[in-house]
Amino acid sequence: MSRPTQAHIDLAAIRHNFHLAKRLVGGAQVLAVIKANAYGHGAVAVARALETQADALGVACSEEALELRESGIRAPIVLLEGIFEPLERQWLDRLNLTPVVHNRQQLNWLLEARPRQPLGVWLKLNTGMHRLGLAPQQASAAYTELSRCPHIDRVVLMTHFARADEAASAPTDAQLACFKRHCAGIAAPRSLANSAAILSRPDSHADWVRPGIMLYGLDPLDHDTPQAADLRPALRFESALTAVRELAVGESIGYGGRFVCTRPTRVGVVAAGYADGYPRHAPDGTPVAVNGTRTQLIGRVSMDMLTVDLTELPQAQPGDPVELWGPQISATSVAAASGTISYELLTSLSRRVPLHYYNATAADT
Ligand SMILES: *Cc1c(COP(=O)(O)O)cnc(C)c1O
Repeated sequence: MSRPTQAHIDLAAIRHNFHLAKRLVGGAQVLAVIKANAYGHGAVAVARALETQADALGVACSEEALELRESGIRAPIVLLEGIFEPLERQWLDRLNLTPVVHNRQQLNWLLEARPRQPLGVWLKLNTGMHRLGLAPQQASAAYTELSRCPHIDRVVLMTHFARADEAASAPTDAQLACFKRHCAGIAAPRSLANSAAILSRPDSHADWVRPGIMLYGLDPLDHDTPQAADLRPALRFESALTAVRELAVGESIGYGGRFVCTRPTRVGVVAAGYADGYPRHAPDGTPVAVNGTRTQLIGRVSMDMLTVDLTELPQAQPGDPVELWGPQISATSVAAASGTISYELLTSLSRRVPLHYYNATAADT
């Protein structure tokens, strides 16, 4: 009993990517971002793989932090969006979590908290993303309030880039300059860089960096850099051929008959579909590898199956392995073909896809 649709995750690759980030940022501390179930890779397994090396772990909410603590993870954990309601303050204390503070209300909740042990706080400033964060003009006053508060003992100043993935540097320059200007004179560590900035903006590395996607081996940049060339994709989403058939010119494949054969076509049916997390919008021509050879999707993706062109692969037969994305077929290329980004593909793998862990290389670098 085993459907061949599975994800194989190389924890050594994740450690390798972590060390690459560490190397790129010199002495800066590294908060490994493992929100959203570690971008689909399994938060507990990834936390265990990085726990002794990461300076902190980043998650989106207390529920994600609880899962880690219940599994015995003891590393510092930062809640990247802070708390959503005042009752959540008890979890900060019980689970030893460090919240982001991104608005006045969260600030008040923490100032009025009565924790048993002092709390750390990451104070988030809005420097141009215009999503979360205090106005940068408020940085100094907010910092003063926090630093005078007896139960708050550490503050990190942070901001988040909206366009660090782009080759054009002006928007990131502006956010960086805004952050510097408004934090000048505040004696606290600073954190700005996500993966894109770690790879391409050494001037933003500061005291703490926050890699997410690069830990999983994917390059967020829209342009090539030598730094990113060393990334190793950690997850291989694979399945197998379950049927092979020959179609004649004029016959069409699957729902809607989207792909019509213009030559005699050998078609492979693969046991993976959108209910597994493969994007339904993937067009004909989306890359896929059968037996290690690149070919392409033809026909609409269905819930449990998709179809590929085997015309140039006459040896391919049912049972042969198919890589949907991984080291050979980058998730970035499948995402680009489907009008999305690798982040969405990774976080969309469904519960039906079992995750298997291994360590491909013994060395940690
Ligand atoms: C998700 C997140 C990150 C990681 O971003 P990547 O692009 O995956 O590196 C960093 N900082 C914050 C605040 C985040 O929410």
